[in-house]
Amino acid sequence: MNVTGRIALVTGGAQGIGRSIAEKLGSYGADVAVADVNLEKATEVANSIKAMGRRAMALKLDVTNLKECEEAAEKIFKEFEAIHILVNNAGITRDGLVLRMTEEDWDLVMNVNLKGAFNCTKAVLKYMTKARWGRIVNIASVVGVVGNAGQANYSASKAGLIGLTKTIAREFASRNITCNAVAPGFIETAMTDALTENVKKDLMDRIPLGRLGGPADVANGVLFLSSNASGYITGHVLNITSMAMQ
Ligand code: NAD
Repeated sequence: MNVTGRIALVTGGAQGIGRSIAEKLGSYGADVAVADVNLEKATEVANSIKAMGRRAMALKLDVTNLKECEEAAEKIFKEFEAIHILVNNAGITRDGLVLRMTEEDWDLVMNVNLKGAFNCTKAVLKYMTKARWGRIVNIASVVGVVGNAGQANYSASKAGLIGLTKTIAREFASRNITCNAVAPGFIETAMTDALTENVKKDLMDRIPLGRLGGPADVANGVLFLSSNASGYITGHVLNITSMAMQ
């Protein structure tokens, strides 16, 4: 699971799962660009990766803006001379039952979670094609597979991300670029802190292992899908969850 000498871009890398992925890739030998709307926190993460002896940079990036994504990719290529790994991790929730969900909340979640991944993928593909080596890992969700009441926008965005994953896998396999997704269950981060105790208890009751997942559980899966070891796997969705799927 070595990623030594690889250059990785992790979106939404300033905290939570993205931070854990960025640091995991750094600790296994990659140089990492940490991109996030929150530059201050992204800089903290980049500094922690530099402290491991790797190269790292922090970028202020809103993934909903294609031009910003292209400029970010250009900047990374100028500095590190390649982009081998893209982790589309930036994501948000704006939950609500469908009849009460506003158009703005639908659009925002689709824009960040789905269009953001499209934008970043488009921005890096030419560099991966040039290197004839690439790994794209999209952070989907178990709710993109099974749905979830109160998350029409979020689960649709994650289901869309799975469709995008399978299509990029088909379009770029001949260039030695793989594209896979991970579908985490309930992972302890700021995103899930916001849930009520009742909802958390209900989720816990459905987890046979009797514990929530941690960001590192997701990062381990992403590391595998970013490494040489997964070279013959593409278009796959890896569930990182012990939650009952039905
Ligand atoms: P988080 O809220 O802790 O972190 C998300 C990060 O994305 C933040 O740093 C935020 O600033 C950044 N971000 C938000 N909008 C952005 C934008 N437009 N451009 C760039 N960066 C932006 O959330 P998390 O729990 O670490 O989630 C990370 C990913 O994992 C998300 O895609 C989420 O949907 C997915 N996920 C999380 C869970 C879970 O249980 N926490 C489960 C399944 C999937």
